[in-house]
Formats: sequence, C-alpha cells, structure tokens
Amino acid sequence: ATETSDFNFSNNDEKDTETLSGGNNKTDSDDEQMNGVKELEINETEVQEVMQERIISEIKGIDEAAAKQIFNEIVDQGDEVHWEDIAGLEVAKNSLKEAVVYPFLRPDLFSGLREPTRGMLLFGPPGTGKTMLAKAVATESKSTFFSISASSLTSKYLGESEKLVRALFLLAKRLSPSIIFIDEIDSLLSARTDNENESTRRIKTEFLIQWNGLSHAAVGQNKGDSSQPRVLVLAATNLPWNIDEAARRRFVRRQYIPLPEGETRRAQFVKMLSHQQGASSFSDLELDELVALTDGFSGSDITALTKDAAMNPLRELGDKLLFTPKEEIRGLTLKDFKVSLQYIRPSVSEEGLAKFDEWASKYGSSG
Ligand code: ADP
Repeated sequence: ATETSDFNFSNNDEKDTETLSGGNNKTDSDDEQMNGVKELEINETEVQEVMQERIISEIKGIDEAAAKQIFNEIVDQGDEVHWEDIAGLEVAKNSLKEAVVYPFLRPDLFSGLREPTRGMLLFGPPGTGKTMLAKAVATESKSTFFSISASSLTSKYLGESEKLVRALFLLAKRLSPSIIFIDEIDSLLSARTDNENESTRRIKTEFLIQWNGLSHAAVGQNKGDSSQPRVLVLAATNLPWNIDEAARRRFVRRQYIPLPEGETRRAQFVKMLSHQQGASSFSDLELDELVALTDGFSGSDITALTKDAAMNPLRELGDKLLFTPKEEIRGLTLKDFKVSLQYIRPSVSEEGLAKFDEWASKYGSSG
C-alpha cells in the first residue's frame, strides 16, 4: 500500500479542516452566537485534533512531538493570499504558475520532460512580496502550506531540529500536494565556514537528504501518476550570495523579485487607497507624482508610507480627534504623502540593489 491509500485524507477533506480551523478562530469574537453553534465548533476542533493524531500515528518512523509541533506552528492556516492581492510582479507570477500551480493542478500534463521542479528560490531585497507570492502559490495551487523560517528551525535544541526536518518532509508527503516554504533560506543553507558549528551542519545535511528524497520518490513511481506525492520546496532570501553552491544548484528556478517598477507602485497605491474612505479622489496626475516620488521604495516601504500618510488627517486634529464625527475627518491628499515622505525613506540602498542585480545576472533564471 502506498502512504496515501490507507487513510482517506483527500485534498478536499484537507481544505475542509483548514476552513474549520479558520471558523474556530472566529468563535472568540462571535460570543453571541447560539450555544449550539459554539458546541459544534468545539467538536470540530476535536475532530481536527483526532485527524491530526491519526495522520501522525500512520506515518512510520515519524517523531510524534515534532509532528505535533509542525501542525501547531508550521502548517499555515492564516489569511489566504490571491494573485490579485499582489501588485505587479507579472513575470514572477507567471513563472510560479508554470513551475508550481499548473503542475499541481494538472499533474497528468506535467510528467516526463515537463516534470515539475522540486525547488524554487525567490530572491531580492526585503519587503518586495516574496512571502506574499509564496502564500498565493499555496492558495492558488490548493496545497497544504508549510511555512517556517530557517532561523526558527536552527534555533531549536540540539537534535530536535533534525527530527523537525524529517517530520516536516514526512508530513508534506502525506498531505501532498504540499509546499514547504522556507524563509531566510540563506541561514539554513549557508556556505560552509570554518566556524560553522556541528548542529548547523547536521541540520543542513538532514535538509538536503530529505530534499533529495523527494526527487527519488518521484523517479521511483509511475511518471505522471497523480498519486505520487507532490512536494515543492519554495524558499525566499534577501541574501542569495550566502547560499552554499551545491544547495544553490538544487534550486533549478531562481526567480528575482526586484523592487517594484512605477506601474507596480501605482497599482499598490491604488489598491491601498481604495480601502480608505475619502481617498479615492486622487487624480491621475497626483498618482503620477506619487509614483515618481517613491522611486526605490519596496512594497513594504509603500505600505509603511501609505499607512503613515493616512494618519496625518487624524494627527492634525490633536485631542479634537476624540469628539470629531467620522464623516468630518478629511480625506487623504497628496500633501499627506509628501509630509510622510520626509521621514519614511526607502529601506534598500543603491549599493544593496547593485548587489542583487549582479547576482541575478549571474545566477537568476531568465524570464
Ligand atoms: P518579503 O517576503 O519579500 O520580505 P513580504 O511578502 O513579506 O516581503 O511583503 C511585506 C509587505 O509588503 C506585505 O505584507 C505587503 O503589505 C507589502 N507588499 C510587498 N510587495 C507587495 C506587492 N507586490 N503588492 C502588494 N503589497 C506588497
């Protein structure tokens, strides 16, 4: 029997459990709900726990505590991100669709020469949407999303990290299709140094062994067989040059996520302003100016700037804020942005950018 045949935890069931847990999060704020409804939701939590325990008990050789930790901390059940939520980055989106989303949704088409990659790296300056892209990929490909930052993996007690890595890959195969998203991958797969400590080296080795195991499992099974576990390691880094050469080669696709171009910044402003009452009055010319003023800003810089600008109409009220009716608060203007621009500056320096461009032209995937 294959790993998946003895317990009917199909993809749809899995989505159900995620929805259930999303529902549970809401119960706290929905206290007035009828008792019956509440009771039902509590039972659903229990159902989910029992299901998780059953899954764990079925996987041979898995460390139970590590597996539970993964369910609790690493399986991401947070907000869904869809392609439309991410401004611009069309090249990256298309590349991810081709490399991950379509193969996950149509495994029958992606076999043989079209065998999907098992590793993809997203690199670029901080705050450019790498994490958002990874989440969107998980949502759009209907996969289980395991999200972990490399530093939290490496900071665990000696020996625990390796168990965690093994459990992570076992569960990812079991709950396939899955995406293992590792943020700050450079700190896990950094180039060897003389003062690298023993435990770091062991975690790195374990990770590479498990990752290799994914390709072997695929080769050993029928090509194009949709029951073969589909697991992709998707990683993000702001420091791609720190990644060990051998590890770098395993990421067949290396996608540069650059600072947003003017059009992308414009799209992000428009999207953010549309959520703010009274801020929809920006003319095209004003938007042009805003875009020009924010050359060199990352997506997260733009978020920070817009949030700060949105505070200005409140700031000028001082204490009057406490008794001014909401309708009388003035809308956001270009001037508010200009005020905030005096102290919210781009977080990535020119030299920093040049380093990314250089690495991208040497090692990045084209397109
Ligand atoms: P990274 O992983 O590259 O460091 P994130 O994906 O965590 O960056 O993005 C940080 C924040 O910046 C997001 O939560 C979002 O608010 C904003 N942001 C970044 N890029 C974009 C984008 N392309 N579209 C919309 N928001 C973005």
